[in-house]
Amino acid sequence: MPGSPSLLDALRGAVGPAHVLTDPDVTAGQVRDWSGRFTGTTPAVVRPGSVGEVAAVLRVCCDAGAAVVPQGGNTGLVGGSVPLHGEVLLDLRRFDALYPVEARAGQVTAEAGVTIARLHDHARAAGWEYGVDLSARDSATVGGTIATNAGGSYVMRYGATRRQLLGIEAVLSDGRVVRHLDGLEKDNTGYDLAGLLCGSEGTLAVITAARLRLVPRPTHVVVALLAFDDVERALDGVGELRRAVDSLRAVELFFQDGLDLVCDRLGLARPFARPHRAFVLVEAASGADPTAELADAIEALAGVADSAVAADDRAARDLWRYREGHTEAINQLGAPHKLDVTLPGDQLTAFVEEVRDQVVARAPSATVWLFGHAADGNIHVNVTGVAPDDEGITDTVLRLVARRHGSISAEHGIGTAKRAWLSLVRSAAEIDAFRAIKTALDPARVLNPHVLLPRDDND
Ligand SMILES: Cc1cc2nc3c(=O)[nH]c(=O)nc-3n(C[C@H](O)[C@H](O)[C@H](O)COP(=O)(O)OP(=O)(O)OC[C@H]3O[C@@H](n4cnc5c(N)ncnc54)[C@H](O)[C@@H]3O)c2cc1C
Repeated sequence: MPGSPSLLDALRGAVGPAHVLTDPDVTAGQVRDWSGRFTGTTPAVVRPGSVGEVAAVLRVCCDAGAAVVPQGGNTGLVGGSVPLHGEVLLDLRRFDALYPVEARAGQVTAEAGVTIARLHDHARAAGWEYGVDLSARDSATVGGTIATNAGGSYVMRYGATRRQLLGIEAVLSDGRVVRHLDGLEKDNTGYDLAGLLCGSEGTLAVITAARLRLVPRPTHVVVALLAFDDVERALDGVGELRRAVDSLRAVELFFQDGLDLVCDRLGLARPFARPHRAFVLVEAASGADPTAELADAIEALAGVADSAVAADDRAARDLWRYREGHTEAINQLGAPHKLDVTLPGDQLTAFVEEVRDQVVARAPSATVWLFGHAADGNIHVNVTGVAPDDEGITDTVLRLVARRHGSISAEHGIGTAKRAWLSLVRSAAEIDAFRAIKTALDPARVLNPHVLLPRDDND
């Protein structure tokens, strides 16, 4: 039984008493998600330090019928990393080893608890770069980003996390270990288990380490902020820049209301003298200085009302702050509804206009904040001024997305927050296949059984 003395004793036997935390004051930060929208309870936070200990914990939980939620940095935004049904919380952050960069292959093996910021520093020190970056980098972990197939700012150039993954080490729910970390670029020997576990949100196995592809480290990085008075023109500009600037690696989108909020809440100066409708932040990176190439392309764009080009690293960081500060500034207004969706390129402008109207029509007290990764058609829809558990908002936004042939999750995953809507974008046959995979790898439903898949009779 979850919380019973015998379960806790067995967990202590598996990882040592010092690594089984039961005091609610100590575990409070880990049972509440980053956004503050989801808070659960747990009989124990368990902190294994080796693959053998993870296996022992899973065997104990399997025998006791206790479910487990794996957790990395707890920056996930869909209620998937916290124990909302009294699960045991498996904290992977003691898996913090980073192995030397393999220079010939441009690869590195990292344990699951390594943060993305540490991985970046490690890769850069060896003259390489890791292709996934996101503003939660100081807390988000290798294991968590694999479990959610995290995207971030550089997807247009390097792809999401799945594209970086060459192999994985993971513990199955019955304690068996799968390990394939040799990093062979060519290796056609059966099912792609690493690819399957990527995006599985802790439902199929506990990831303990990964073999990751690195990308060449650019020596020159240029950042510019462009202002437009028309959304359609801004998005046309995104397409033009992608075509014209080979070294482009990030194209981000936000709007005047979000910019005002970021400036007011984070105490930043406004970048332009007058307000504009939409802003596009671009980053070009290369082994040769891309400034002239980017400047020429911007010059040729129609509809740029104003622009700022960062002259140095500090100015570049300041321009990025306008975009990356959105999540922090919005959170200061209270726990928001956070929805993260993708639209086909030709539907984005209509969606941006429509989503604000429809949400406010449904909840007049709501304020809608939009920002995202423009090159991927990925818009983050944040809604404040409504009860955090008002699922009518989720329903309105996700149905709108599905009608426009988009995805209800661009990069955060399904978690708890969107499981009821998965059938909007996945057919019954696809969901049956998902269930068959879950049953094959986790027949006792030990691993994160209340996320991703729609509710069924076992819930
Ligand atoms: C400010 C901010 C900005 C963000 N920006 C982006 C962005 O640009 N792009 C993006 O994709 N996401 C973004 N996110 C969301 C979040 O950072 C990512 O989803 C990230 O991948 C979560 O990593 P984590 O280590 O915090 O995982 P957690 O939040 O701890 O867990 C997330 C999910 O993965 C599972 N999990 C965690 N570790 C393991 C493991 N070792 N084995 C198996 N399952 C595991 C958990 O059970 C849970 O279902 C952002 C979040 C914040 C707070």
